[in-house]
Amino acid sequence: MSCTCLVSFLQTRMKSMEIKLYNTLSKKKEVFKPIKAGQVSMYNCGPTVYDTPHIGNYRTFVMNDLLRRMLEYFDYKVDQVMNVTDVDDKTIKKSREQNVPLKTVTEKYEKLFLAGLKSLNILTPHHLIKATDCIQDMIGLVQLLIEKDFAYKTSDGIYMSIDKVKDYGKLAGLKAQSTKDEKTHASYHEPKSRVANDEYDKEDPRDFALWKLKTPEDGDNSWQSPFGEGRPGWHIECSAMAITELGDTIDIHTGGSDLIFPHHTNEIAQSESATGKKFANYWIHGGFMTIKEEKMSKSKGNIIKLEDLAERSLTPLAYRYWLLMAHYRSPVHFSFDALEAALNALNRLKNTMNDYPRGGTVINSYKERFGAYISDDLDMPKALALVWELLKDDTQSPADKRATILDFDRVFGLNLGIEDKSSKVPFEIQALVLEREKARAAKDWSKADKLRVEIENGGYEVKDTSNGVQVRAKL
Ligand code: AMP
Ligand code: ZN
Repeated sequence: MSCTCLVSFLQTRMKSMEIKLYNTLSKKKEVFKPIKAGQVSMYNCGPTVYDTPHIGNYRTFVMNDLLRRMLEYFDYKVDQVMNVTDVDDKTIKKSREQNVPLKTVTEKYEKLFLAGLKSLNILTPHHLIKATDCIQDMIGLVQLLIEKDFAYKTSDGIYMSIDKVKDYGKLAGLKAQSTKDEKTHASYHEPKSRVANDEYDKEDPRDFALWKLKTPEDGDNSWQSPFGEGRPGWHIECSAMAITELGDTIDIHTGGSDLIFPHHTNEIAQSESATGKKFANYWIHGGFMTIKEEKMSKSKGNIIKLEDLAERSLTPLAYRYWLLMAHYRSPVHFSFDALEAALNALNRLKNTMNDYPRGGTVINSYKERFGAYISDDLDMPKALALVWELLKDDTQSPADKRATILDFDRVFGLNLGIEDKSSKVPFEIQALVLEREKARAAKDWSKADKLRVEIENGGYEVKDTSNGVQVRAKL
């Protein structure tokens, strides 16, 4: 086969590569089949803008980004929608505590969120939608649910009647029995079986609020509706935004695993009851990030933000690299030591890439393996390991290695082609090299050897050439 033929054969093969994704709904890996050939509609639950996002939140946003980049790598046209929750229990509580308008709170944290996306090289979703811009869509959906008799009115709002939803709880694997059990104890129209809060426990599925009638605590944050002045519940927000932007049935819906219940469970109940159609074909959930085995949460005081990393000179892209080392569904435990190791690895990788000559071509055998890994439920740890394997492969030219890794970086998103001053030889290593030079000039060979070991332990190697000493990151 001629060279051009081989390239086009490989491109066709990459395009037709079977993508497998783990679907929380079926609890197994499935072959991905989009509704429209070559196109993907994807809805990501976005941030609740009441505080600076923590690195756990960004783990999920990086997962969304990797998913989009992987699909685009295989030439799918992705339509990515992410919401910004700028009205809910938490945002209103914060504006009340700080005694400022809701928008003052939400606009501040939305800006920080967007800056975080940029620093992590996360592609901006095609549509970033604020809940407060879609209130009429939410009202319309609630109205439809009332008309279809899935919702009822109480003294404090409109509630979704979960016993009317045939397969309520299917995503979270709730036993149908649990709702029935409750029904034998109390009618759903009694207060015990309803919940007005946006968040509650999986062990306690109940009728939930679609529309919350105005209370004094809500301040100015209410809207007129046919069922009284009030505000939407958190779950109806996402259903309405997803359906309005992407249609009744979407290809992929994502979020962190904490959203499986109640949020995504309730989104399915509302959406499928209203439209009579399947809401999302693939439900993708990211594993949680913990710190010292605990859930990262404000109440535990163990929140870590991007600025905490910056204080220790740990870059957002080092964090992104560290995330690539674990499968997106695995829970990960954060530690600063692990992140430092990731930063060193990323710097070594970038330095090596910078040293390699430009103008090579992508190595097909490696590209094929890369495609096989990323299409297998986004196996980024294997894809990353492949990079290091390639770097050590003496049968490939440095220029081709560079071209191949830059091709992979369309998915990694590590900006490997951009020379980064901060990834140059660190100051401490430069100091050791200088000291070694002095030791060599003084013919103190044992000191020079000790310093070489120290430099190597720091991840660098020195070479004494006729042009002087050369320092580079170790592979
Ligand atoms: P929130 O701003 O709380 O609405 O969360 C935004 C996204 O971050 C959601 O998809 C959550 O599931 C996700 N998330 C929250 N905490 C973590 C965590 N510790 N690890 C991974 N994802 C998280
Ligand atoms: Zn959502």
